[in-house]
Amino acid sequence: MIANSSPDVIVIGGGIIGSSIAVRLAQAGARVSIFDRGEPGREASSAAAGMIAPQAEGPKPEAFAELCGASYSLYPEFVAEMEDLSGIAAGYHRAGSLLLALDDAQAQELDETEAETRRRGLAVERLDADAVRRCVPGLGEGIRRGLLLPGDHWVDNERLTEGVLEAARRLGVTIHANATVCSLSARNHRIESIKTDTAAFRAAEFVLAAGCWSGVVAASAGLEVPTVPCRGQMLEFEAPSQLSMVVRAGDHYLVPRAGGRILVGTTADYVGFEKAVTAEGLASILSGALRLAPFLGKLRFRRAWAGLRPDTADHLPILGRARLENVTLATGHFRNGILLAPFTARLMADLVAGGTIPPELEAFRPERFALGAKAGGT
Ligand SMILES: Cc1cc2nc3c(=O)[nH]c(=O)nc-3n(C[C@H](O)[C@H](O)[C@H](O)COP(=O)(O)OP(=O)(O)OC[C@H]3O[C@@H](n4cnc5c(N)ncnc54)[C@H](O)[C@@H]3O)c2cc1C
Repeated sequence: MIANSSPDVIVIGGGIIGSSIAVRLAQAGARVSIFDRGEPGREASSAAAGMIAPQAEGPKPEAFAELCGASYSLYPEFVAEMEDLSGIAAGYHRAGSLLLALDDAQAQELDETEAETRRRGLAVERLDADAVRRCVPGLGEGIRRGLLLPGDHWVDNERLTEGVLEAARRLGVTIHANATVCSLSARNHRIESIKTDTAAFRAAEFVLAAGCWSGVVAASAGLEVPTVPCRGQMLEFEAPSQLSMVVRAGDHYLVPRAGGRILVGTTADYVGFEKAVTAEGLASILSGALRLAPFLGKLRFRRAWAGLRPDTADHLPILGRARLENVTLATGHFRNGILLAPFTARLMADLVAGGTIPPELEAFRPERFALGAKAGGT
């Protein structure tokens, strides 16, 4: 059975990437439907820590650093617009991050981050161990020095994703929850329709934004989209007073949330589509976090969870037109999908509306994998 009234665009995946693109398309006048196999927004986009911190992980290559920088610049405006459209406060703060070095390798990483941040003309301040402890009281004895990035932001990604979905709804986007896209029907180099368990749905254009599941969905139409799930585990504690900024050393970080809550992360495991929280994961997060911030040891534990980051063979997003004429791919945002949502949405909506591929997207074109890169995490 084919559903009667077809939208102009079907977006597969209702995470922050798919829903942000849907908002931009609807604003441009398109009739849009989102299909999500579960409750939209409840996968990686809710599981994330919400750091809007383009320099913290030393983004490479240059094209990726520029993509991150462009999205970072759009953030204040994006959040304000989504809050306005949806009426949902996103818990957005611009109080900076404190990067710390506990050993030689991390000290070297800080030097590189400092040099790169200065080169980009962004604010950065080098702190000795005493200054670090004045900045955030209660940090560990083993801290050698730190780097303050006062321009970094954080957002409650769960609330923001909820807000973007609500904004989409209010702009007339139809959201199909619990509607797994089982296959894509292709003919004459185009997708004609998608099939869910219950029906087929046609559209003129399709956007594949199904996070780490994008490869599975694409395979039904013979498209190779090499996304791999990378599990990240997280913990949440309750503190008597508000942590003032993000504190981070390598993969270990503390991120503030409203009401004194502190998120603590993370792990990076390649175990397929398994979302379990494991004893090993908890031990690894806690040992790193307690070294960084011993005060965590006395805090009340609230909850633990895991999410699946959409990784790719080169750890870069897949953004652009697929081999089929009417399919746009917006996936593989790995560790930076919350940060990258505003710019991804703008670029992808332009592309779907018939725009040419802008220079910003060259490095992220889906065809690069045809040249030999294979999916699989490192
Ligand atoms: C622990 C952790 C910490 C993170 N921290 C940060 C951070 O601090 N900053 C940052 O920028 N990023 C962070 N990230 C990364 C970020 O969460 C992701 O890059 C981003 O959420 C990806 O968004 P998405 O919409 O592509 O994917 P998702 O949010 O996973 O959404 C994909 C959607 O597709 C749906 N779907 C899947 N298969 C189908 C199907 N067959 N049919 C229909 N729908 C389907 C799913 O149900 C899901 O809702 C973190 C991730 C994790 C796990």
